[in-house]
Amino acid sequence: MLERLGAEVVRVRRPEEFATVGGLVIPGGESSVIDKLTRIFGLREPIRDAIAEGMPMLGTCAGLIMLADTITDAIDGQQTFGGIDVVVRRNAFGRQVESFEASLDVPALGPEPVRATFIRGPVVETVGSDATELAALADGRVVAVEQGNLLGISFHPELDGETRFHRRFLKRVAEQSALIGQRIPSR
Ligand code: GLN
Repeated sequence: MLERLGAEVVRVRRPEEFATVGGLVIPGGESSVIDKLTRIFGLREPIRDAIAEGMPMLGTCAGLIMLADTITDAIDGQQTFGGIDVVVRRNAFGRQVESFEASLDVPALGPEPVRATFIRGPVVETVGSDATELAALADGRVVAVEQGNLLGISFHPELDGETRFHRRFLKRVAEQSALIGQRIPSR
């Protein structure tokens, strides 16, 4: 998706790779495993520092869990990076077979609804005062939030050819890189 949108993509597994990027997509998968591996590979602290410094990030599904300040239904000892002032419940829709698709209104992305695929996704149970709700299901459950340069969504837009979340993320990466660029003194 990012390559299709013209971005240069680096797969980040180690701090050396992370040091080369201007933004981070934390994809779907399994948040407890992402937590364990980022700790083992020494990525947890660099990612947390980058969040504090305003690096743009897009978290989808497990990625949203990683960006949440607080989680419920976590496994024992599971930690998140934090950054978005929300409480997120893991596996809130039940098991894998209870995966579903829905049409969502996301006013921040324009009038065209978003086709969203939920795969054992989380739900935002509480939106704190620092975070902004971007979308909710018809029953009111919040499934997309934003705080500063961090964007977190419960579903997988990349499966439905929905590009607007990724474009929003890339726009922030460009803006943030320009901002940081300006602070570097010229020779
Ligand atoms: N259930 C997974 C978790 O807890 C998330 C699933 C997904 O990313 N599609 O991390």
